[in-house]
Amino acid sequence: MLPSRSGSFPLFRLLGVRVYLHWWWFIFAAFEIALRSRAYSSHTWNIAEYLALFLIVLLHEYGHALACRQTGGTADEIILWPLGGVAFVRPPPRPGAELWSIAAGPLVNVVLVPVIAGLIWARTGVGWGADSADYRQFLQALFWINAGLLAFNLLPVYPLDGGQILRSLLWFAVGRARSLQIATILGIAGVVVLAGGLLWLQPHRWLFTLLIAGFLASQCLSGLRHARLMLALEKLPRHAGFRCPSCRQTPPGGPLWPCPSCGRAFDPFSTGGVCPHCAAPRAAIPCPHCGTGSPPAAWSAGRSPVIDV
Ligand SMILES: [Zn+2]
Ligand SMILES: [Zn+2]
Ligand SMILES: [Zn+2]
Repeated sequence: MLPSRSGSFPLFRLLGVRVYLHWWWFIFAAFEIALRSRAYSSHTWNIAEYLALFLIVLLHEYGHALACRQTGGTADEIILWPLGGVAFVRPPPRPGAELWSIAAGPLVNVVLVPVIAGLIWARTGVGWGADSADYRQFLQALFWINAGLLAFNLLPVYPLDGGQILRSLLWFAVGRARSLQIATILGIAGVVVLAGGLLWLQPHRWLFTLLIAGFLASQCLSGLRHARLMLALEKLPRHAGFRCPSCRQTPPGGPLWPCPSCGRAFDPFSTGGVCPHCAAPRAAIPCPHCGTGSPPAAWSAGRSPVIDV
């Protein structure tokens, strides 16, 4: 249920990240702007406020993407859609790298608090835009939008940032799979409470609430399935002589990799990457832990050679 590039169009590319805007954004923007009948003297300010909201969201997503890159992971795509933004980040599978990639997003909102407060102060203190009541209203709205986004994203409900931070912290204690399992189960309970709270607080925005609750719940369920899969993988015997060149994990043993030519599953680590059914060689073997595909020779590079003289 994540937004995809196919439903979006590219906006620009900055710092190696391509930013896309989802088509649905326009429909929701028109709806939301019409709903915001705030005390502005012209409609332009309503539009400016909505655009500023998405600028804050974009800066937040850039926080995730750049932090993820800093840990050695990949992040080259951000999609803005009606429910906010999605940064497609893949940090290396270490709890510290994951924690920093997630925490950097809300940290951007924390930095924005004094920035916006400074603008509010400059209006009266230095007189920047002091004569415009609309500008005052706009800055105040901006302050609360940023504070609201920060508070909402820090709720410990997976897959919100707070829930993912909780997951990374649990990872240190109980491991990768178990931490995801706990965070997603707590997440499902959290989504129910959150949806109830939002419906009570802003009943007129029930459609938005239901959409966001449905989205969060579907992410929890797919996370839970992923955790189950990882727990099952952990129980399998392992090919001790091989290591993923990307994440350094040993691959599990067993016929788990479907052949790209004939579709039948086999264990490429016991056959040198060649399919025993149709004899087609595999150019790359995907890692079940991190998803990176590497050629068979690169996997065996992790082997310690036995040298006989
Ligand atoms: Zn975030
Ligand atoms: Zn790997
Ligand atoms: Zn085959």
